[in-house]
Amino acid sequence: MDNKNLKQLVIWGLGFVLLLTLFNSVKTVPLETEIPYSEFRSRLREGAIIQVRMRPDLISGDYRDAKGATQHFRTLPLPDPKLIEDLEAHKVSNFQGERDRSGMYAFALNLGGILLFFFLWWFFVIRQVQVGGKQAMSFGRSKAKIVDDKKKKTTFADVAGCEESKEELREVVDFLKTPDKYQKLGGKMPRGVLLFGPPGTGKTLLARAVAGEAGVPFFSASASEFVEMFVGVGASRVRDLFDQAKKAAPSVIFIDELDAVGRARFAGIGGGHDEREQTLNQLLIELDGFEQNQGIILIAATNRPDVIDTALLRPGRFDRQINVPVPDCKGREAILKVHALIVKMAPDVDLAVVARRTPGFAGADLANVINEGALLAARKNKEVVELADLEEAIERVMAGPQKRSSIMSDREKKIVSYHECGHTLVAKMLPGTDPVHKVSILSRGFALGYTLQLPLEDKYLTSRVDITNRLAILLGGRAAEELAFNEITTGAADDLSKATAYATRMVTEFGMSDVVGPLSLKKPDQEMFMGRDLNKGGAFSERTMQLVDEEVKRLVTEAQTKARGILAANKKALDQLAQSLFDREVLSGDDVDSILATARA
Ligand code: ADP
Ligand code: ZN
Repeated sequence: MDNKNLKQLVIWGLGFVLLLTLFNSVKTVPLETEIPYSEFRSRLREGAIIQVRMRPDLISGDYRDAKGATQHFRTLPLPDPKLIEDLEAHKVSNFQGERDRSGMYAFALNLGGILLFFFLWWFFVIRQVQVGGKQAMSFGRSKAKIVDDKKKKTTFADVAGCEESKEELREVVDFLKTPDKYQKLGGKMPRGVLLFGPPGTGKTLLARAVAGEAGVPFFSASASEFVEMFVGVGASRVRDLFDQAKKAAPSVIFIDELDAVGRARFAGIGGGHDEREQTLNQLLIELDGFEQNQGIILIAATNRPDVIDTALLRPGRFDRQINVPVPDCKGREAILKVHALIVKMAPDVDLAVVARRTPGFAGADLANVINEGALLAARKNKEVVELADLEEAIERVMAGPQKRSSIMSDREKKIVSYHECGHTLVAKMLPGTDPVHKVSILSRGFALGYTLQLPLEDKYLTSRVDITNRLAILLGGRAAEELAFNEITTGAADDLSKATAYATRMVTEFGMSDVVGPLSLKKPDQEMFMGRDLNKGGAFSERTMQLVDEEVKRLVTEAQTKARGILAANKKALDQLAQSLFDREVLSGDDVDSILATARA
């Protein structure tokens, strides 16, 4: 509300008050004193009454007071059938009836009230909407923020510990810098890049860095903003965001939390979400409407790539997908160094030590460690940040809002290293198994570590040897723990349940047990079953059930023996692998090969 409006309000208000006063004065002039009926009667008896106007609810008139001056009066009438007689008897010169105007008066007042109400309503509601006309329309305008050019630009130097992701994005930067080069060669640039990885790993930072490196404007919005408002607004926001970016091309558009709109349609509870779907459709329209080489790159980020609608991942849309993983030990050190630049570190602080103590921390957590450390040092009036401050900061960040259950102690880390290397080594030693692609002790989901085997080719048939090998690999984890620590942990629970399930299927579904024979003990409608559920209907004899149990146990135990044997025979290799994994946290297939080669030599 600006000054002009306020003035108007005051004028209107004053006008209204004036009007009301006028109303009142018309009614009350001449000024009447209200007197009791008894006084009216006694004045009548005295013959002081000059004139009277009568209404069923009011009597008013004039009388002469003791000094002879005319006074106006009014009084509330009482039932008095003799009044007219007495008026005549006392020679009141003029008495008359009067129309009851109180109804009209009330009506006028009411009208005034109603008018006032409408006026206020108009002022506060209608005006607001009119004044907010711009606002109302700006519901649909995207809240996209343009990065201030004057602010220090983000560059790839600010992002550490994800070299591969950076490498893949360099091409995008190159394209934004010199779109002509690509146009001439007829090369097709991606329109959309999807960055995926856990929260806080630097996806936003990377997108900013792309714009910064290329020196182009950066438009950013969060997809969850698109769907928070009224229906239809999300779509118009998307449109507006792209319009802005097109005007500024070449430019980078960044959409955070893409899964908020990009969730697979019809997936999830409650089925379709109108607003989300409209927004998603608009996004697809905009993506498809991009001229190739128009100089706009759309970068989106999500930590749920698994739920993204496949329509978004088709060629010409987000056709480039880049993983931004949780950093490994080296990466963490690099990130810590980046953030340590802005604080005063004691010269003897070795950030590698901090990096080793923070497995599972994402970039944002590490930035937090440095920041907390600086705060702690400041609280203690220190001149520089010392290692002790950083160590305390680690604890704080660990206990922080997103409680990290994934942070391991050194001993746990050691156990998990052996466990994973157990899987790896057994896989390596058994011929015909899928190559080990990656071993990691960086937790993923609830698993503390993982060994990733990728098949060389798609497989449609699995042989008995394949499955028994799989069983041995699964049991290799616990076998390695036993061998190294003479102790077993709960870490193998998932392996064991998988192994048991495999073995059970071998016996009951695949007919791979000689003792039970080539029978399928799976009922047609039974998708899944475990152990005794199988015999709910009593379709199989006790003896068969017992045989199944024995066979499953035999298969798993044999696998265990095999795994133990392999690991015991290669203890030196296991130790070296585990040590490397402990130090580096992630080993590639090639790393594993070269470690095994030196261990054998
Ligand atoms: P995401 O978008 O993946 O959730 P952000 O990019 O928003 O994560 O990261 C939040 C903050 O954490 C950044 O502003 C930065 O300070 C810090 N950070 C995260 N990853 C890195 C990294 N790889 N290098 C340096 N700083 C990082
Ligand atoms: Zn395991």
